[in-house]
Amino acid sequence: MRIRHLPDHLVNQIAAGEVLERPSAAVKELVENSIDAGSSNIRVDLKDGGKSLIRVTDDGIGMSYQELSASLDRHATSKLPSDDLLNISFLGFRGEALPSIASVSHLTIKTHAGKDSWKIECHSGVKTEPAPCAHPKGTIVEVRDLFYSTPARLKFLKSDKAEFLAIKDILTRLSMAYPKISFELTHNNKTVFNYFSEETLNSRLEKILGKEFTENSFHINADRDYISLSGVSCLPTFNRGTANYQYLFVNGRAVKDKLLLGALRAAYQDLIPKNRYPVSVLYLTLPGTNVDVNVHPAKTEVRFKDPGKIRGLIISAIKHQLMEAGQHVSSTLSQSALGAINRTEQTVSGASNQNKYQYPYRHAQQPLQKNISSALLAPLTVEPSVKTYGAEEVEHSLTLDQNYPLGAAIAQIHKNYIIAQTQNSLIMIDQHAAHERLVYEKFKEQLQAKSIETQNLLVPEIVNLQENEVKDITDHQDSLSCLGLDIEAFGPDAVAVRSLPALLSDKINIEQLIKDLVDEISEFGTANMLEDNINSLLSTMACHGSVRSGRKLNIQEMNNLLRDMEKTKNSGQCNHGRPTWVEIQLKDIEKLFERS
Ligand code: ADP
Ligand code: MG
Repeated sequence: MRIRHLPDHLVNQIAAGEVLERPSAAVKELVENSIDAGSSNIRVDLKDGGKSLIRVTDDGIGMSYQELSASLDRHATSKLPSDDLLNISFLGFRGEALPSIASVSHLTIKTHAGKDSWKIECHSGVKTEPAPCAHPKGTIVEVRDLFYSTPARLKFLKSDKAEFLAIKDILTRLSMAYPKISFELTHNNKTVFNYFSEETLNSRLEKILGKEFTENSFHINADRDYISLSGVSCLPTFNRGTANYQYLFVNGRAVKDKLLLGALRAAYQDLIPKNRYPVSVLYLTLPGTNVDVNVHPAKTEVRFKDPGKIRGLIISAIKHQLMEAGQHVSSTLSQSALGAINRTEQTVSGASNQNKYQYPYRHAQQPLQKNISSALLAPLTVEPSVKTYGAEEVEHSLTLDQNYPLGAAIAQIHKNYIIAQTQNSLIMIDQHAAHERLVYEKFKEQLQAKSIETQNLLVPEIVNLQENEVKDITDHQDSLSCLGLDIEAFGPDAVAVRSLPALLSDKINIEQLIKDLVDEISEFGTANMLEDNINSLLSTMACHGSVRSGRKLNIQEMNNLLRDMEKTKNSGQCNHGRPTWVEIQLKDIEKLFERS
């Protein structure tokens, strides 16, 4: 066996394995080249998910004869003029994308710089001499039959649809980073999108993520030392079932960085249900000396010199805005609430259409009378405790309280929902969810001030547990005691609870609380994990400590709850991320009754 230097085309194919995982990686490299070339308009045409054709057309600076020929040589780049890998001002710098793509496809480039236009072809890494051609402006790179020379890679590609979606995602991300550049994408001769040049980032984001997103999100602008963070992030109730809607950019480069994704998760921690993800677009700008983009050939991962600082900045900037956004819940919720009411309306009118047996709704076969009565005449469980007010007083307090953001409480229905009225809307509040958030935020406040109030039990409550459970929970005795919960082992298979946080209501089911805590703690494992999970424990306690659904409240209590919500951070959603209230505008109610 003799050591030998591999031929260039093989070296390039090996590099292609790293740089080019799939067609979307080729598109990313080519479009980044067009951006680096100062283009204002970039167009990408695809066939069969990019497998048979990727064509990128730009109106950038183009290449001269020599540049065009050199562009296909390995490690030939115009983007590192000062030989300084820490000072990178372009998206590219490694000089390996074009030769890698060329080594596994049929590649043609046409380009115009100065007065001349040139064309070059490359098949399986063997290039032709540039020849004159007719080409007006910028550069066209055409890649046919990507991976045809590496059948093993070809086999790993997914369906055309899946590869196309990956390309669309990449190009969408690049469009978010460069709103002033226009981007067009076609697939199998059909236009997928055409984003024109935009003056502002917001208008580009609105085109991509929809008006609902821009309406249900807040702007972030924060600086710390040399780092600057900007972006737009959603209200907690506007969440999605996948993390794909998290768009992260570092110095104009779209990245999928674990540190940044983790910071985002932490920022929304107790505001979004498990398995749901915020929609976020974040742009970090920092000096090249503080971030290494040369971690992986595909350049989607970065390494920060000071990761803790970056994480801290993201978390605190988002949390700050979330607090400001306070009680807001996303407007889409009221839209879906209205949608639901609309459906009821259709059912009723559909049935009256003589056609009731064909009508596709669930209640359509029931007599019309029953439909109407269930939809409109359902009895309201209005609390008799209105008696605390005289009729006139009710009127009076109603007009006063209507000026508050959450309005004046009118009634409680189904023993859990408070109906309130503002000047121009109706608000429904989930009393349990709302109260849970209030108790939780109070807990956090007291914990921060290191003054959790406790209440001693006259008679300690004994809770029977499994032996290992007793060990799990008593291992964390000290930490729990800091939270106002004093417990100690009571024989091998029970604990005695001596005091509780005063915030928990006196009607709480202590046994259930302890069992829930044991379950949680057993999942944490090691001792410090408890410190990291304090908020989650507080949240469990708050859930136990809050008014249950089913408890009747009088008007005074309801209004107190509303006023408390207005004062409390994050009160738009409960600790599990569910919304605590929904608003329906009067004008929408009027539409339902065809009054407007
Ligand atoms: P890198 O982008 O890392 O420099 P590439 O292999 O992607 O490496 O490209 C090699 C060189 O070809 C670039 O440095 C640039 O000078 C030139 N080039 C590639 N694409 C274009 C383009 N669309 N317009 C102008 N020049 C280009
Ligand atoms: Mg490049």
